[in-house]
Amino acid sequence: MEEMKKEVLFGRDLIAKRVEELAAQISRDYRGREPVVVGVMKGAFIFMADLIRRLDIPCVVDFVRLRSYGSSSVSSGRIELTKDVETDVAGRDVLIVEDIVDTGLTLTYLVEVMRARKPASLKVCAFIDKRLRREVPFEADYVGFTMDDGFVIGYGLDFNEQGRFLPDVFIVRDL
Ligand code: 5GP
Repeated sequence: MEEMKKEVLFGRDLIAKRVEELAAQISRDYRGREPVVVGVMKGAFIFMADLIRRLDIPCVVDFVRLRSYGSSSVSSGRIELTKDVETDVAGRDVLIVEDIVDTGLTLTYLVEVMRARKPASLKVCAFIDKRLRREVPFEADYVGFTMDDGFVIGYGLDFNEQGRFLPDVFIVRDL
């Protein structure tokens, strides 16, 4: 991997502590229930794996994958589901786990798709929220960390498939 200029933004110990807090909150909120936890591939896979291991309620695990198309510099808002869940979510408590909310377009689309299937409840847990970058209003129910701007890699997040394996979250300079 070519050396990228990067600095730690959220270190592994801080991440572990925050994931523990989120899991405690989610366990309290879903007490007595068994949510379907839907991870958004690929970026959320490490966050989701850590999060569900800290829950003290049972859950069902499933995944979706989304692709946005059109020009990447201009948000087209055109998004499609390239991999769907295999669980019938009708009447179930669904918790979507996403890596980053940026413009909000991806999650707005996914929430709409899931809502049409009539789940008993639908919430979103995002590892990172870039609040200032919204193009459509979107509020996640659970947020790990917030940041203003910049591009991050590590802890499942990539830059052209590089850096997913890194145990800390790094902000990349001079992209
Ligand atoms: P949006 O909210 O704009 O529809 O898109 C969110 C998606 O953009 C995230 O799921 C993530 O895949 C990608 N993304 C946004 N910001 C970053 C970032 O800083 N690093 C990485 N690796 N992906 C990002």
